[in-house]
Amino acid sequence: MERDQVVIVGGGLLGCAVALEIARRGCPVVVLERAIVGAEASSAAAGILAPRLEAHGREPLRSLGVESLAMYPEWVASLGADVGLLRTGLLRVVRAGDPVDAPDVEARWLDADAAREVEPGLAPDLLGAWSLPDESTLDPRRLVPAVHAAANAAGALFRVGEEVATVDASGVTLVSGERVDGRVIVCAGAWTSKVPGLGPLPVRPVRGQLVALSGEPIRHVIFGAGGYLVPRADGRVIAGATVEEVGFARGVTAGGVRAVLGSAVAMVPDLAFAAFEGAWSGFRPGTPDDLPVVGEVGGVWVASGHYRNGILLAPITAKWMAGAVIDGLRLPPVFAPGRFT
Ligand SMILES: Cc1cc2nc3c(=O)[nH]c(=O)nc-3n(C[C@H](O)[C@H](O)[C@H](O)COP(=O)(O)OP(=O)(O)OC[C@H]3O[C@@H](n4cnc5c(N)ncnc54)[C@H](O)[C@@H]3O)c2cc1C
Repeated sequence: MERDQVVIVGGGLLGCAVALEIARRGCPVVVLERAIVGAEASSAAAGILAPRLEAHGREPLRSLGVESLAMYPEWVASLGADVGLLRTGLLRVVRAGDPVDAPDVEARWLDADAAREVEPGLAPDLLGAWSLPDESTLDPRRLVPAVHAAANAAGALFRVGEEVATVDASGVTLVSGERVDGRVIVCAGAWTSKVPGLGPLPVRPVRGQLVALSGEPIRHVIFGAGGYLVPRADGRVIAGATVEEVGFARGVTAGGVRAVLGSAVAMVPDLAFAAFEGAWSGFRPGTPDDLPVVGEVGGVWVASGHYRNGILLAPITAKWMAGAVIDGLRLPPVFAPGRFT
């Protein structure tokens, strides 16, 4: 048995990021991906990095996200690739009938005129907007290949087309019957609860549908009561997202696209004239308390359940997992897999 090897189950952004960190620490690491690296939730994501908005004042999610966002510029620079990272700031628009409470202690209120001055396309029926200037965005479809390439360059071995059939404290067994020994980290996203040997973990798929538009650029990440808009560095706008409990039913639906576009055009009416570039869906790995699962259970490590914030939380998760597996760093029990039992 290769005692020092780390075996990662799943090659999404979390698997790639953890592999990168471990490889950079000089430890042998192999990533087992059953299909295509990064092709699931990590490529479907909108790419919003908004810990203050997403947490709505709840700890420990807010502090975790703020710390991870602060790591982003240096982490991205270390990849040596342009991933479209933009510090656009975020506007939480308020229209008649919407909740008016501040999303975060750092949010600053802009009246309608002030909000339209910084984001001219906002709807005329706007009452105002909460501004969060540090919230950011990037393009996950550029980030995932960049992290994958960096992990490869650092020495991580990626084996694609390898489905893990079962895991235990000393390694994994592939569907082919092959045994791969080492310390195991499960990064299987929405499929985590389906990995045999891990024990019951309540990670479930939560489908989200997104639409890409072009021709009517915006300046900020914009959140409304019914959805959000995300500017891309290339001028496109990503509109999202549905939140659907439909199990692993793949696909885009007429009702989902209608809901996303309805919310988009209500926030920025000129998006009605934008070109429709496409729509897609993915499965967020959800948990009962909306917090990630980062820790150890029965000798197997888990980094999963990042729900709506897996892109945001990738740098800090990778740092924590490498610290725990290599140095014995104690991780906060609030994220431990055992909290559900
Ligand atoms: C529509 C949508 C919008 C989102 N927007 C944002 C956002 O704006 N900001 C943000 O921070 N987050 C966002 N997220 C959440 C984010 O995408 C996820 O939290 C994150 O990508 C999860 O990454 P992952 O690596 O855990 O999972 P995935 O990317 O799903 O990767 C899991 C991998 O494990 C593999 N796998 C599973 N089982 C096995 C097995 N038995 N053997 C081998 N391989 C296996 C799968 O094939 C897959 O490649 C969004 C998600 C969706 C769906």
